[in-house]
Amino acid sequence: MNGTVYLIGSGPGGLGMMTVRAREVLDAADVILYDQLPGAEVIASLPDTAECVDVGKYGSSHTLEQDEIEALMVEYAKTGRNVVRLKGGDPFLFGRGGEEMETMREHGIPVEVVPGVTSAIAVPECVGIPVTHRKWASQVTILTGHEDPTKAESALNWKWLAQTTGTIVILMGVKNLPKIAEALIAGGMKPEKPVAIIERGLRPDQRVTCGALDEIAEVARAAGVKPPAVVVIGEVATLYRDGSEGRMHITGV
Ligand code: SAH
Repeated sequence: MNGTVYLIGSGPGGLGMMTVRAREVLDAADVILYDQLPGAEVIASLPDTAECVDVGKYGSSHTLEQDEIEALMVEYAKTGRNVVRLKGGDPFLFGRGGEEMETMREHGIPVEVVPGVTSAIAVPECVGIPVTHRKWASQVTILTGHEDPTKAESALNWKWLAQTTGTIVILMGVKNLPKIAEALIAGGMKPEKPVAIIERGLRPDQRVTCGALDEIAEVARAAGVKPPAVVVIGEVATLYRDGSEGRMHITGV
């Protein structure tokens, strides 16, 4: 009999952001495949009754490719063990959880998905930025910044994105931020559009960097902004306050 594979999201950081179901599934797991995105606090809480495999640092710090991770999940589940694939945020938002589910289906392995609190909404929220707001934004677009906007065959339509009347939230957007800002301005977005970048949201070393769209790439470069970070573009970014909204949810700090 095949074991079950649980695709679970641990939320954006800190034990308080994990769902009760995710905790239950983790504590009952035989095998846990994880990477570093869930953060140190969650990783330190993994039960020692499970075999825990860091797929970001497999063997001698070699990062496993997606197909290797999926092969490992299949291999463990075929031994009858229950396997948890632990991800940061929500498993189906840029987490490749959808692909993993399909692979498990192909192998006849039962899958349970445990949704998580996504960083795309929670990280801005915890520094006082609502991604929608009755006055400022009636829609929100969440996109990956992993794609180079100058690439001829981009899966994203930057001209269309530049016309949005709502908020744009970018995950994995640090590296391409200069090109993204340029593409949005070229597409007609106003250069003074407010932007906030939240690095390591809900972690003890969380940091927020703000600026207008036409200066944000330079401000971020000067500040040494690094992933993981959520980039919020839109008027709602002006609601950022250097308060304690996020920090009060961090336990053990
Ligand atoms: N499935 C995840 C996203 C995976 S993509 C989710 O729903 O949150 C990884 C990206 O998520 C990072 O590059 C970063 O853009 C963002 N991210 C995840 N956790 C974060 C955090 N605590 N602080 C800032 N950004 C975070």
